[in-house]
Amino acid sequence: MDKDDAMDRMRLARIPKPKPEKRPMRQMSEKTKAKKEEEKKLLSSDGDTLMEQWYKARRKNLTGTCQCGCGESSQKKDDMYFRHSIAHIFPKRLFPSVMYHPLNFVERRFWGGCHSVMDDTSMDRWVGMADWLDIREKFFVLAPLLTDEERATNFYTRLEKLVYANAA
Ligand SMILES: [Zn+2]
Repeated sequence: MDKDDAMDRMRLARIPKPKPEKRPMRQMSEKTKAKKEEEKKLLSSDGDTLMEQWYKARRKNLTGTCQCGCGESSQKKDDMYFRHSIAHIFPKRLFPSVMYHPLNFVERRFWGGCHSVMDDTSMDRWVGMADWLDIREKFFVLAPLLTDEERATNFYTRLEKLVYANAA
């Protein structure tokens, strides 16, 4: 490229491009909107959502026995209900940062209520569960990955207190 060429290019580069005419926003129909939302949920080629992929991956980590200490079977082998035996430690609703983290779960029997005891009764009971040390170890991995907002939740504060007050 010679010098004049380069100058021409620079001059051209400085000429502002004509602004594209503003087109009125097209209204998306409710149907299209719903379809777009659905498409967003489908993130892998086989049509699974990330959440579904996560459940399927965790299924491989399940032992087949509820880890709360009850000694009963979990739903690992149940193609319909295996997801219900995978209990998030940090609930996905409050902790999106770690909702797909491979360590953010414990194995709980669904039938018979071990999963709901984990989710719906006082967190203080976690300390008495057979896999408390597992929960505790997972806490130390997951806690640094959370956002400040997530760490400001009551859930986090309570769990952190339990973890530090109930060492091995
Ligand atoms: Zn159990």
